[in-house]
Amino acid sequence: MNPTATISRRKAVQLSSLGLGAALVHPFSVSSKPEIQKKLGVALVGLGRYSNFQLGPALQHTELCELKGIVTGTPSKRETWAKEYGIEARNMYSYEEFDRIKDNEEIDIVYVVLPNAMHKEFTLRAAEAGKHVICEKPMGISAQECLDMMEGCKQAGVKLSVGYRLYFEPHHLEVRRMGVEKVHGKVQMMEAGLGFSMADPTSWRLNKDLGGGGALIDLGLYAIQGCRRVVGEEPTRVTAQGLVHRPEIFKGIWEHMSWQMEFPSGAFSNSTTSYSAYVDRMYATAERGWFQLSPSFNATGATGLTHEGPLSFTTPPYQQIAQIDHFAQCVLEDQEPMNSGYEGWKDLKIIEAIFEAAETGEAVEIGW
Ligand code: NAD
Repeated sequence: MNPTATISRRKAVQLSSLGLGAALVHPFSVSSKPEIQKKLGVALVGLGRYSNFQLGPALQHTELCELKGIVTGTPSKRETWAKEYGIEARNMYSYEEFDRIKDNEEIDIVYVVLPNAMHKEFTLRAAEAGKHVICEKPMGISAQECLDMMEGCKQAGVKLSVGYRLYFEPHHLEVRRMGVEKVHGKVQMMEAGLGFSMADPTSWRLNKDLGGGGALIDLGLYAIQGCRRVVGEEPTRVTAQGLVHRPEIFKGIWEHMSWQMEFPSGAFSNSTTSYSAYVDRMYATAERGWFQLSPSFNATGATGLTHEGPLSFTTPPYQQIAQIDHFAQCVLEDQEPMNSGYEGWKDLKIIEAIFEAAETGEAVEIGW
């Protein structure tokens, strides 16, 4: 696509193309995109599975920004990404050379897609280079790291968001609307879980120092987020349980976890996550009905059902398209992203409370 082409303003109500219907009030979905002369340039840092199979392809569909650069520790990937996406050699960096990106005017946004324990370092280095940052989830491996990242970006005058693609996914927007607007009455109880088999002991995900704590921080995070978003509140008290069946594989991290969250309105949630078993669902029961997504949290699509029948929305080719374009729009219009660093910090704060509850066997109060 010609980067200098003018991109016309999209109609304010683009909801129908997503199948959302006019009733869904959502600040991103109803806002029109700005007119731009040139797309913002995005550099992906870390070319693993997520960059390869989701972000690289998604960035071929974005309207306000485009893939212009890569940062990789594997020289052979330079050729592959040059061939696949036409990345110019001048926009390729090793991790060691990364700070030189500050002199590159073609790059406006750095997208950190590295193992979790590396998010803070590369977010702060990108901010110091004057680049806006999208950081993959979990934002960091502790709530304090998230605060440090927010402060670093604030000091540098750059925007920060977390790669929360589901903040823009039509089924998730709709169940959030049903919960927050109390369409079927007040939400009373929720069940949410995400888990899959991840028993490769060589993976950084099973290394506590690099992954930050296993399935909860990696996958359970989505179940936490799903419940928070459906009730539109933050949990104030958690209880939790952890199990390890294969200690030879799961060292210092839980293999399976369950946890319960209590919300100020009285809503209650029960959740599961696992690195050994498949689960992907979100169910909420309200005073006059129920709604669910099953599958729910994965990147390839959700299926929705309520007590009234199926929820059928057109799923975009990649959930990340809307997520990344929203960030670009926030950069262009100097707005705070909906999936801001603050949202990432909240999830880490809850995760820390869940770990504490599982380790102590005691309920943990979360002070906000
Ligand atoms: P991956 O293992 O496939 O890729 C990790 C990349 O980091 C590789 O290119 C690897 O070479 C590089 N790397 C640099 N230093 C490393 C080190 N010390 N150890 C290991 N790898 C190192 O992982 P992924 O699945 O692409 O996940 C990357 C990030 O994206 C994670 O934070 C993950 O949580 C996140 N992610 C998000 C989603 C989502 O839906 N939002 C989905 C998958 C992954």
